[in-house]
Amino acid sequence: MYKFRVIPANEEIFIKTRNKYKTILDEFNSYAQMLTVEAGNAKTKSGKASSYTRYLIRLIIFYSESNDDEIIDLSSFETLKKIEKIKHADEFQTFNQESNRFYSATISCYLAYVTYKNSNNEEVMDNYFNHSLNTIENNLEEKESINLINTPKMRHHKRRVSKVYSYPRNFLEALEAKKRSNWTCEFDKEHRTFINIKNRNPHVEAHHLIPMAAQDYYENTIDFADNIVCLCPTCHSRIHYAMQSEKKEMIVELFNKRKNHYLRHGINIDEKLLFNFYGIV
Ligand SMILES: [Zn+2]
Ligand SMILES: [Zn+2]
Repeated sequence: MYKFRVIPANEEIFIKTRNKYKTILDEFNSYAQMLTVEAGNAKTKSGKASSYTRYLIRLIIFYSESNDDEIIDLSSFETLKKIEKIKHADEFQTFNQESNRFYSATISCYLAYVTYKNSNNEEVMDNYFNHSLNTIENNLEEKESINLINTPKMRHHKRRVSKVYSYPRNFLEALEAKKRSNWTCEFDKEHRTFINIKNRNPHVEAHHLIPMAAQDYYENTIDFADNIVCLCPTCHSRIHYAMQSEKKEMIVELFNKRKNHYLRHGINIDEKLLFNFYGIV
């Protein structure tokens, strides 16, 4: 049972919790600041980000009080899932309404932060993977395609490849995605690209629509062709580095084409959650 209540920022437990997680809460606050500025709420930026931080402190308190469990690593999906469970408590809805839904908004922002914290190595691996795939894609055995994933499958373990600790990716799944796209940009198949000298195919890049940085959110793997979109280099950079509104437009379009395929892989996803993985809250 959660003991939801208003916890003022000068209450002892609040101060104690804030001090205990100070370093990472400061980082969360900067991240939230960046998101809210980017979302165009410049006027209210500092107010909103520090509110998220205060609400996160309260969520940590509710969790620890009710579960007799100490939160160790605030940047892990394991902790995020613990905090997220609070949403399912009976009294949460009313309590959340009374706080202008700030608690649920904080959980979304926190999810975006945890994905961001997990994205460094996974993005390095994405580049490395695309590079290697370009080189070998014509040599991958056709017959191996029969092993493609079509049902829920447990995620892999992370491993270290060329100094990067990350989840492995399957070349065959990415190649299958390229075949399905017919080596065109899935955001807009009219986008011109070029012939890749290594494989003589039009150059497209494989991108995991649910980012591999979010793999820890799921028990099952997200490295399957249905989750891999092929993009021209500009669109691929755009989905990683554009402003939120531009990213959003792409995500809506790409997710609409894919959303019905996730359930058979045992992956629960909706548009809002996908936005959160991309830092759109
Ligand atoms: Zn990518
Ligand atoms: Zn494109």
